[in-house]
Amino acid sequence: MLLEEERRAVVEGGNAMVRAGLTAGTGGNLSRICRRQRLIAISPSGLDYGVMQPEDVTLVDLDGRTVEGAYKPSSELGFHLAIYHRRPEVGAVVHTHSVYATTLACLGWELPAVHYLVGFAGRKVPLASYATFGTDELAASVATTLGSQFNAVLLANHGLVAVGGDMHAALNTAEEVEFVARIYYQAKCAGSPVLLSDGEMDVVIEKFKTYGRARTGMDPE
Ligand code: 13P
Ligand code: ZN
Repeated sequence: MLLEEERRAVVEGGNAMVRAGLTAGTGGNLSRICRRQRLIAISPSGLDYGVMQPEDVTLVDLDGRTVEGAYKPSSELGFHLAIYHRRPEVGAVVHTHSVYATTLACLGWELPAVHYLVGFAGRKVPLASYATFGTDELAASVATTLGSQFNAVLLANHGLVAVGGDMHAALNTAEEVEFVARIYYQAKCAGSPVLLSDGEMDVVIEKFKTYGRARTGMDPE
């Protein structure tokens, strides 16, 4: 079976998304690219994550042509492809309808730096303008708004897209954005949230480059 590891990442990532409360049923989608083989493993359209097996995951080439798979690829294949073409360092793309991120997206708001954890996405999470799901217009809007400086983007009246070097990183960013979106929504309900400056966010983003990777030199036996 081609791209076995990437197919597993899609299945496990889909289940992780459900466990983390980032999506329900068949909502959202996710993919993992193998740049060496120039192939992408992407969740099939409308298939419940709870029943998805590695062999159900659809493989497409970089032009979006199906190479292997009994199911149609996700209807959002367009923005997955557009992101992989635009961002050569991205290895995984995750799309959720998580509740608080989607709430902001339905208000037409961006997510500003109300909490330092937004730094996993960048100085803020920008908002991509609305287009019908599964369209080229949405793909263009998502890829353009993500640009080269953000790892997440809100989709107006729809949800969230997060990217990362691998599935773990993309999912982690989606989770952190959902946490910060909740904090922002709650803080807005209670008053006027205090925002962090661009300068402080640049310090945080720099620190995140080594966060969780520090070794003490005292390796356990
Ligand atoms: P798919 O099941 O086709 O991936 O669609 C889900 C979705 O979230 C569309 O935006
Ligand atoms: Zn969606």
